[in-house]
Amino acid sequence: MDIGTSGIEKIKDRALSLAEEMTRLRRGIHENPELSWQEFATSRLIASKLEELGLEPRIGVGDLPVGVTADLEGGAPGPCAALRADIDALAITEENNVPYKSCKSGAMHACGHDGHIVILLAAAKILSEMKESLPGRVRFIFQPAEEHGHRSGARGMINDGVLEGVSSIAGLHLWSDIPAGKVQWKAGPLMASSDAWKVVFKGKGGHGAMPHLAVDATLAAAAFIFALQTLVSRETDPLETIVASVGKLEAGQVINIIPESAEMSGNVRTFNRTIRDSVEERFRRLAEGVGATYRCGAQVRYDGVYPYPVVNDGALTNLFRSTAARVVGEENLREAAPRMTSEDFSFYQAKIPGCFFFLGSGSEEKKSTVPHHSPHFDIDDDVLPTGAALMASFACAMLGRQRFSE
Ligand SMILES: [Zn+2]
Ligand SMILES: [Zn+2]
Repeated sequence: MDIGTSGIEKIKDRALSLAEEMTRLRRGIHENPELSWQEFATSRLIASKLEELGLEPRIGVGDLPVGVTADLEGGAPGPCAALRADIDALAITEENNVPYKSCKSGAMHACGHDGHIVILLAAAKILSEMKESLPGRVRFIFQPAEEHGHRSGARGMINDGVLEGVSSIAGLHLWSDIPAGKVQWKAGPLMASSDAWKVVFKGKGGHGAMPHLAVDATLAAAAFIFALQTLVSRETDPLETIVASVGKLEAGQVINIIPESAEMSGNVRTFNRTIRDSVEERFRRLAEGVGATYRCGAQVRYDGVYPYPVVNDGALTNLFRSTAARVVGEENLREAAPRMTSEDFSFYQAKIPGCFFFLGSGSEEKKSTVPHHSPHFDIDDDVLPTGAALMASFACAMLGRQRFSE
């Protein structure tokens, strides 16, 4: 549907009128963070807010009562567009001294997901109030465990059928290094895939004075650190982007003993799905080859944590761009630079067209320019209504586009 300029203005006004309520709710959620797959109270709170709107939320992913979905039926038939927010906190102890400081040690909303929840709830409220004019259905997805890595909440929800009947999906991330209220969009690759690996080189322990009687696993580990970079520098098109990092290295305990084994683990990231799919085989060849050169066995584990990069659909992102221009104005819009960080929104995009975008929440005055995942992280609550207006307006645009293209 084309809601027109007056429609967008109405959505913006309604979002602004919810500002105080949004801030209060965001701070309440911030005070009570829950880690990945433990978002029990958060999910109940979200469900109760959706019930207040007359929706019928469903709680649960697999056997766990976390994560919430709800459908809003429009007044006319049409496609189904999904809006997604992630809801989990991180295992970090907050070091901010604010009235809404996390009440738990070892858990903190340090990525802004508390803001995402409130933005999507407000969008649900705005859209509910105008449902008669919606040509289709909007599915609200409050996803657990974005931060979990191996056991991604998106993967779990998709396995449970959350995308059934959905034609397109949008997701937002508040971002602290983007000035508050500014919006960044990008068609194509935006965030990287992320694989985790572990290699154990097994040699033969021995006395440090008699290396010829031992098989030194530390040599294989040292050689592998250098060899690994040839994946990047010699085996990948230099115009493509790939990162291979060693994050952990452990071997030995005593200065005069050659350790029996050396264990290392790390991360590989790229924007290119074809490259990503070819890395595992090449990685294994290198690790096993280096191990053989130094007479060590190499045990290799290679896991796709977020095996897909975040790649925004071109047509959908154009639609987002033109919608966002009407919500925040051209002067507040910018094309995003790709980031090597990852997001499990990519799981949805591997199935259907999706658009993921950033809303700036950084303000020096509000002390909210601190990097995500820092114990000092905070967001500028004044941007919450902008987020809600963007999500609600884009949902309307997605319904319209799909109806016309059918
Ligand atoms: Zn995060
Ligand atoms: Zn996040």
